[in-house]
Amino acid sequence: MISIDTRAKELSANALRVKMRIAEACAHCRRDPRSVKLVWVSKMHPISDVEAAIQAGATEFGENKVQEAQRKFNTPRPGVTLHVIGPVQSNKWTKAAKIADWIHSVDSLDALKKYQAASYDSKKTLDVLFQVNTSQEATKSGLEMKDVEAFLLSLPPFLNIRYRGLMTIGVNSGNPEDSRKGFAWLRQMRDRMQFRGGIFSQFTELSIGMTDDLEIAIAEGSTLIRVGTAIFGARDYT
Ligand SMILES: *Cc1c(COP(=O)(O)O)cnc(C)c1O
Repeated sequence: MISIDTRAKELSANALRVKMRIAEACAHCRRDPRSVKLVWVSKMHPISDVEAAIQAGATEFGENKVQEAQRKFNTPRPGVTLHVIGPVQSNKWTKAAKIADWIHSVDSLDALKKYQAASYDSKKTLDVLFQVNTSQEATKSGLEMKDVEAFLLSLPPFLNIRYRGLMTIGVNSGNPEDSRKGFAWLRQMRDRMQFRGGIFSQFTELSIGMTDDLEIAIAEGSTLIRVGTAIFGARDYT
């Protein structure tokens, strides 16, 4: 086992490379790099990596499983923002809302009702993004593109929930260019909803881009980049 200090230095160097990629991508499309937030996706990496990442300056973390997130982020960590980025099963909706600051994967009104109740109980405001299946792959969760606008327009206001934007996962084809169309579609939908104002007046965010497609995501307007592999290394699925 390497020490937390050594691991923190590694993670810091890796994150710096990612931040340089972000800065360069922003320069290409004349965006302010401060308009892009980096979410450190620590899923499947140990708690010691979360500690090391915090030492390396991380403030935004992404986890895709509620139980794992709960295990790693149950102690209060001041200054740390937790993003639940994976699909949440109905029996974990309450737990998810209690531990998360942001949930990126909302795709039903039933989930929102539970998130409202849990957020009210916790005296917090929960920021939510709606996941859209822009790649139209059967294995991916999220709203179907054809349903997104009607679904969003049917939403009621919830006292403890802020509607913040849209999220998608790129096409898993090996060619990041294949994700561009879906990203651009998502951006247009975000713009349309934000223009409506009201409960969508804070609908400013686009959670798109991961290790392999962050440059394209930034060119298409990403405000939240979710990076795992490029910071923490490969995940061991065995
Ligand atoms: C795992 C995961 C990521 C991070 O992916 P990398 O390719 O490792 O950067 C981003 N978003 C979601 C939803 C994930 O599940």
